[in-house]
Amino acid sequence: MKFIYADSLDFIDPRYDFATDRNGPGRQLYWDDQYPHEFMATPPYDGILVSRGIVGDHRFTGRYTAGQSMRFRRVGARKFLRFDVGALSEKPIYGDCGAFSYVNEQVPPYSSAEILEFYVDGGFTHGCSVDHVIFDFDREAKGMDGGSDDARRRFEITLENARDFRALSRRYPAFTPLGVVQGWSPDSKALAAQKLESMGYDYLAIGGMVPLNAKSIHICLESIRKKIKPSTRLHLLGFAKAEQISEFTKYGIESFDSTSPLLRAFKDARANYYVLKADGALDYYTAIRIPQATENSRLLRATKEGRYRQEDLTELETAALAAVRDLDKGKGSVDRALETVLAYNKLFMLDPTKDEKQNERALEVTGTHLLRTLKDRPWKNCHCRVCESASVEVLIFRSSNRNKRRGFHNLGVYYDYVRRQLNVEHQATDVEVPSRRRAAKR
Ligand SMILES: [Zn+2]
Repeated sequence: MKFIYADSLDFIDPRYDFATDRNGPGRQLYWDDQYPHEFMATPPYDGILVSRGIVGDHRFTGRYTAGQSMRFRRVGARKFLRFDVGALSEKPIYGDCGAFSYVNEQVPPYSSAEILEFYVDGGFTHGCSVDHVIFDFDREAKGMDGGSDDARRRFEITLENARDFRALSRRYPAFTPLGVVQGWSPDSKALAAQKLESMGYDYLAIGGMVPLNAKSIHICLESIRKKIKPSTRLHLLGFAKAEQISEFTKYGIESFDSTSPLLRAFKDARANYYVLKADGALDYYTAIRIPQATENSRLLRATKEGRYRQEDLTELETAALAAVRDLDKGKGSVDRALETVLAYNKLFMLDPTKDEKQNERALEVTGTHLLRTLKDRPWKNCHCRVCESASVEVLIFRSSNRNKRRGFHNLGVYYDYVRRQLNVEHQATDVEVPSRRRAAKR
């Protein structure tokens, strides 16, 4: 099972100076920055997925600047991503058409020929057919029952595009096309999968799973698996439940793409820093929030309204940074660090729309999670390049360079987790290979 990282230009400046919160001298965005596979000692994924929606074009603005998008088209995905050095050049690059960027359109804005050209010119090894997202989901609908007119229309469009895409891609034997499955129910998805298989696809990408809960995903995968050959490979598109992937491996998942380990570093309320427990399970720590007083929107508003004075904020911010750095160096106590950080946190955590009790409770919960981070000091036990070079800075929720470094660390831990899960499964099912030989093979 391959973990494919869905990139959206998340890189870091390796020369970033934490003491002054400045980029390396003369740093040029992108050119001096590094992707996770460049910064980490070992690439923390098996391949990369690039969505057309992220690259953007004249119809939709993506994450790329016009210049980046032009360079991407000129030099191809691999060179642009700097995924072309040594062993990296052997790893796959998947493409998808970013169906969420045109979800509100009547029909997808791309023809199969257009998207295929985008993949082939870009040097993608794998690419998905042009799908149209279906919003309805009815877990109980049997066969082709249920589904709104719009859902059925999107279902047909997705299949029609897949038929064209498959036919056109036969001209490029080195390129692997994936047919995208869309449906409004487990059975309609399974039927779509069966139809794609009969078109000649042996690799299917399952779309539309983002809003589904784990139980619905199980039911969908079960019905899809029942209808298709065991040899047909499955890819889970934009799999948001990456932390639960081990539940789903039994459906013969060849690959899945996700960004969630990186995103949780700075988007999750609590689970910001991943660790792998001795039993192979994932565990999470909360990051230490010390935002720049001059950049935090709540603090900025409060100073503008005259509720806080800028110099008081800066004083508390500086004290919080000093306290956690001291703790990292073995000076000062956990209690002092906690107190100092909370004194600053209080200022931007207080929510004027909530009453005093609710605010107090929120601060108390934050304190409990923060205490665990400060007590355990998990960055001390990690030997990845991020933690070794940034030390406690990796746990500080502040500026993109710290937050994304934490994301890189998470990717590394997550990748170890996936590989461990696979080994466990391998050992559970493959009883014939003596354990010693299996170890040597790894
Ligand atoms: Zn680390």
